[in-house]
Amino acid sequence: MAEQWRTGRTGRDGGDRPITRGDRAVSARAGYAGFDAAHGFPAAYAHGLARGLGDRLGATLVVSQPEAWAIVESRFGTAPRALLMTGGLDQATLDAQARSAPEGVTVVGVGGGTAMDVAKWISWRRDLPLVQLPTLASVDACFTRMSALRDGERVRYDGDAVPDEVLVDFEILAAAPPALLSAGIGDVLSCLTALADWRLAVGKGIDPAWDDDGARASERYVQALADAAPEIAARSEAGIRSLMELHREIGWRCHDLGHARFEEGSEHFFAYCFEAVTGRTIMHGELVVLGVLTMTALTGLGHERARSIVDAAGTRSTLSALGVSWSEVEATLRALPAFARDGGYWYSYAHELTIGSSELETVRRALGG
Ligand SMILES: [Zn+2]
Repeated sequence: MAEQWRTGRTGRDGGDRPITRGDRAVSARAGYAGFDAAHGFPAAYAHGLARGLGDRLGATLVVSQPEAWAIVESRFGTAPRALLMTGGLDQATLDAQARSAPEGVTVVGVGGGTAMDVAKWISWRRDLPLVQLPTLASVDACFTRMSALRDGERVRYDGDAVPDEVLVDFEILAAAPPALLSAGIGDVLSCLTALADWRLAVGKGIDPAWDDDGARASERYVQALADAAPEIAARSEAGIRSLMELHREIGWRCHDLGHARFEEGSEHFFAYCFEAVTGRTIMHGELVVLGVLTMTALTGLGHERARSIVDAAGTRSTLSALGVSWSEVEATLRALPAFARDGGYWYSYAHELTIGSSELETVRRALGG
């Protein structure tokens, strides 16, 4: 059979399946029920899912990063037919990697967001089955269909991959450094600011149109995150599972709505602006948390709530803990309104900011730096 080379949407549904494997997760507190996604990719939650995975899948192409593969390799069983360590994320590099992928393999993404994104791209381009094994909970890339490609300075989303299964192995995620788990709240907490931004834009008659279901879900995700926060801090199975289930349903909803307006707004624009201004980045989830705390401090919308969730989850948020200087935050804030407007980002509170000394003082106090 001739090899497949995909472009555009695959039309594959496969994006809405129940949990495939995994008993009720153990919680740290009695009575914590946990969050179960109503929609999303097939996902399994259990101990030891990585053990013998290579034996079960047969011929594999593992896409990973050195630190992640160092954790998984000894458990994997049958060695992969090919092993690819991720590098550049521009389309030319990814397409070359897809072309050189062997025939008849299952693509297995092992690691963080970058490994997931590259594995998705190869699976989609070559029409190869995909299994995702995230080794940290701080990104939702295992539950989204598109890959984030670097296009010069910008990030562009393309592709359409649906995994056969996402394997959430408690043995691996619970053993990761605490910050890698607690940073995972960023892309859920972002609903708090994103929903306010969406409401602002709709009030001004700016797309995408309001969607009651999407808006209510966004509020539900923040509440579920608040409930899960102490479990995330305790790194319990229930905390890990609830966090990943939130990512699972949010990933499904982005695809279902056709946009991520309920989950991505000024807090992400703050993060992108920080990267553009400073020429560096920190862990995505923590940078987004910084964006949420900053934007809510400036708008007065939900700051106390955001702060209490961040503290309860044990997520690092002071500038010193994050290794971020106040001058970097100040430069980001001064650039942010023009960055958001000129970059063509969705209309948000970031577009309307005026940054003077009192705004800077407000943020400085809110960040404790
Ligand atoms: Zn994000």
